Amino acid sequence: MVVYRNEVSHLWQRQSLLRKWQKGEIRREEICDAEFLLMTAAKYHGTPAPRVCPVCGADGLRVVQWIHGEQLGRMSGTARSDQEIAKIAATGREVTVHTVEVCPECRWNHLLKAVTAVAE
Ligand SMILES: [Zn+2]
Repeated sequence: MVVYRNEVSHLWQRQSLLRKWQKGEIRREEICDAEFLLMTAAKYHGTPAPRVCPVCGADGLRVVQWIHGEQLGRMSGTARSDQEIAKIAATGREVTVHTVEVCPECRWNHLLKAVTAVAE
């Protein structure tokens, strides 16, 4: 069985960043800077987010899960589904999962949470 541990929420940082943008302290280009790889991953491996983009208001906002880990080799730094993550963790390797929100319209992106998946 795979369990998720050490969840760290990044929602506070997200809100704080958006507030700075709303106040004009940072420019839109600074927060809407998703790289090509992230945009592609969001399109093909992401799932629809249950809310609109906080920057441009588009309703195509997506959530994608990136995995990282020293024991993952070339799989580290790739986008994966829940099932794939469970399968990898079930082999005994520790998987850090970063849930990232990405807007395909304006390239807004932000880490929502980080969690560690481990087999028990
Ligand atoms: Zn957007």
